[in-house]
Amino acid sequence: MPAASSGGPAVPTVPTDILIAGQWRRGAGEPLDTVDPATGRVLATVGSPSAEEVSEAAEAAARAAAEPAWRDLLPHERARLLHRIGDLVERDADELSALQTADTGKTLAETRALALSAAGTFRYLAAALETAEDTLTPSRGPYVTMSVHEPIGVVGAINPWNSPVASDAQKLAPALAAGNAVLLKPAAWTPLVSLALGRLITRALEEFRLPTALLSVLPGSGRLVGDAIVRHPLVARIGFTGGTATGRSIAAVAAQKLIPASLELGGKSPTIVRADADVEQALAGVMFGIFSSSGQSCIAGSRLFVARDIHDRFVGELVERVRALRVGPGTDPTTQVGPLVHHRHRDAVAAYVDLARSEGARVLCGGSAPEGERYRDGAYYLPTVLDGLPNTSRTCQEEIFGPVLVALPYDDEDDLVRQANDSVYGLACGIWTRDARAAWHLARRIEAGTVWINTYKQFSASTPFSGWKDSGLGTEKGRDAIRAYQRQKSLYWGTSASPLPWAN
Ligand code: NAD
Repeated sequence: MPAASSGGPAVPTVPTDILIAGQWRRGAGEPLDTVDPATGRVLATVGSPSAEEVSEAAEAAARAAAEPAWRDLLPHERARLLHRIGDLVERDADELSALQTADTGKTLAETRALALSAAGTFRYLAAALETAEDTLTPSRGPYVTMSVHEPIGVVGAINPWNSPVASDAQKLAPALAAGNAVLLKPAAWTPLVSLALGRLITRALEEFRLPTALLSVLPGSGRLVGDAIVRHPLVARIGFTGGTATGRSIAAVAAQKLIPASLELGGKSPTIVRADADVEQALAGVMFGIFSSSGQSCIAGSRLFVARDIHDRFVGELVERVRALRVGPGTDPTTQVGPLVHHRHRDAVAAYVDLARSEGARVLCGGSAPEGERYRDGAYYLPTVLDGLPNTSRTCQEEIFGPVLVALPYDDEDDLVRQANDSVYGLACGIWTRDARAAWHLARRIEAGTVWINTYKQFSASTPFSGWKDSGLGTEKGRDAIRAYQRQKSLYWGTSASPLPWAN
């Protein structure tokens, strides 16, 4: 692969081969061009598997999962593998960061933090694994009863393009901790960092003399590769992050197969600024919540509700600061807002702003791609603030997944809660207030899996994450993440010296 770039550090080389059943090879499927969104240049042409190769990977994964070398490892021994992966990811954090910045356009500061968070996820789940306990249940007869947990077998892990290394770790770490094998499918636009992570995990598996077919990394389209993974009879658990429509279609296949699927889906999260908020904190938090990652975040705070009394003043000040955000390539350390992931996605975001205009929105800032030589070939879009729309408009109801914020006033708490909850989504919410009691009551009334109070978009491996309503099904993160990739088995141990009475 050519070392490429957008003017920053050289992108490290990655295998353009893919990982099928423990072997690096080209794959017989349609190869994918992956593009640097800051320049529009092709970074690499990456292989892709055919449907037969997906099958080969699933069969090899099932055999690997059943091999005594893996199947019989005790939890504390599997934990050592996870620690080693965490160490390798941390060691190569700069390389993983450079690859992800090249592929996604995100800033190096963000992609480095994502790589370190991936290392932290492996380590946290190693610790959780060593301390997880099975249960001795109260005996209700002449037997001792236990509930134990066992691996499911082959897991299909399917991820979107927005934070690949962190999303990969969120599925790989608990699935491997639980004793499974994994088929990982990165998004077609961003396969590089997942392949690099695959290389590190393969290395750790080799060091521990474990079967390398425990992991396959299978880039490709969702329609071909993703679908082949989900439908494969040996794939017995799906971990999916992506759009709600895709999640629904995967859930339908999982329902037919009667296998569990966790779904982390889209969002249209409210950020609430009460009249008693610390204005400086709220301004910084609202901007970070929507414009970091150029708004390409499931939890982006894309609907801003401001108490009517302070609405115009707050939004006026916000717009001044948004105009001053530094837009540029992710490799420039001064950049705050990088390009969007792909030119096609930038065009989709621009189309949403056109829709907003047709719905009667006022564009307070942004509303176009930036001008100038620096931005000519990249997938850039200016941070945009809109107002003048009702919460019922399509612009306020549909996920734009870009740097577009809509400001809405609210009158009182009931009006606020009604509008904030009037959404098919229920992923996240931010509340800015100095009144702790008000925050408590409001937080409990909001329909969302995560509520941040006087902070936003903070994540911790130890805290469960789930979407409500159309934002998802099931939970990731937290120590129970391992259990979500296992099956429960009940053991009854007879303690009576006599035969069962019925037979006599
Ligand atoms: P997407 O649904 O188009 O694709 C996600 C993944 O699914 C990709 O790897 C894709 O190739 C694959 N896929 C597509 N069709 C498939 C099918 N029929 N069978 C199997 N796999 C299939 O989503 P995207 O555009 O890549 O990502 C953006 C979406 O992801 C947004 O809606 C965002 O909110 C959501 N997201 C959610 C979370 C969360 O934790 N809730 C986190 C990040 C992103």
